[in-house]
Amino acid sequence: MSKKVVVLAEAREGALRNVSFEAISAAKKISDGGEVVAALFGQDVSGLANSLFEYGADRVVLVEHPHLNFYTADGYSQALLAVVDQEKPEAIVLGHTALGKDLSPKVASRLQTGLISDVTSIEGEGDDAQFIRPIYSGKAFEKVEAASEPLFVTVRPNNIEPLEAEAGKTGTVDTLSVDITNLRTVVENVIRKATDGVDLSEAKVIVSGGRGVKSEEGFAPLKELANLLGGAVGASRGACDAEYCDYSLQIGQTGKVVTPDLYIAVGISGAIQHLAGMSNSKIIVAINKDPEANIFKVADYGIVGDLFEVMPLLIEEVKALKA
Ligand code: FAD
Repeated sequence: MSKKVVVLAEAREGALRNVSFEAISAAKKISDGGEVVAALFGQDVSGLANSLFEYGADRVVLVEHPHLNFYTADGYSQALLAVVDQEKPEAIVLGHTALGKDLSPKVASRLQTGLISDVTSIEGEGDDAQFIRPIYSGKAFEKVEAASEPLFVTVRPNNIEPLEAEAGKTGTVDTLSVDITNLRTVVENVIRKATDGVDLSEAKVIVSGGRGVKSEEGFAPLKELANLLGGAVGASRGACDAEYCDYSLQIGQTGKVVTPDLYIAVGISGAIQHLAGMSNSKIIVAINKDPEANIFKVADYGIVGDLFEVMPLLIEEVKALKA
């Protein structure tokens, strides 16, 4: 049976995050020919609706309010519940982002439905859809079916391919007025840390450093390689604990979970807690001077050598390829 599916489009600093398009792609599979409605929250964000149509949304429900300019669990849950109340969807899809992880359990519990979180792929369509999600820190995968309505799913960024964009596709934008009240917190402003641009959780390429990098300055070649490849810099907890870099870069069980197309692990031993955050990357390259390092067990390509010799050579090769 075809289904109506509501997707929450995630916007940040005036731009939609890729995961919004991946969520629409997931919603299309779940809808099995039904309607995919993108919920778009914020202030002065109506201009973003066109991209949602181009990537497959059939309709957009726009909720604009000053209190939706920045995410708060109270504000966004009121807006999403209002959209669900109006649309009565059979399914809801969010990105498994910091926002989605915070919002989804709150809304699912209000709707008294189950939550299938951190989905990395979907097999089948409509009523036959089965959701694949990692368990035991990525050491195994389980296949889950929905047992309650509405079906509520969060999808891990970088795992489900967005649909091919249909340039110029448009659709109907319905405006829904929601009275956002009783906020326990109001975000006045967000002061971002200076970063090198690419968001770690959505990066297609990550160059990640461990304790083997030895110092803050040791991260410079990793940053250079990441810039050349249009990627982001990550780190092991070992490197963060040693104060070579900020904890916001930490990847692993207690850091960020990432699935880039290419993960280059530099001077990282491959402790189980680190693997929990990156072992599902599509291609893993490890550079380590210890041939017995655990990281080589998950690596597709391994370079046994001193990173301070290997990194400059790698950077020169990439520069030559780009020239
Ligand atoms: P090390 O284990 O010290 O490894 C350094 C590596 O660099 C070695 O393999 C060495 O051979 C190599 N090396 C050294 N010099 C060179 C050189 N010149 N050239 C090439 N290679 C070189 N860790 C995480 O990363 N993420 C987490 O989220 C996380 N969560 C944790 C949660 C808990 C509850 C616990 C207990 C631990 C957690 N850890 C986490 C820590 C984890 O167990 C490891 O201690 C940590 O990952 C080690 O970091 P590392 O590989 O950078 O350092």
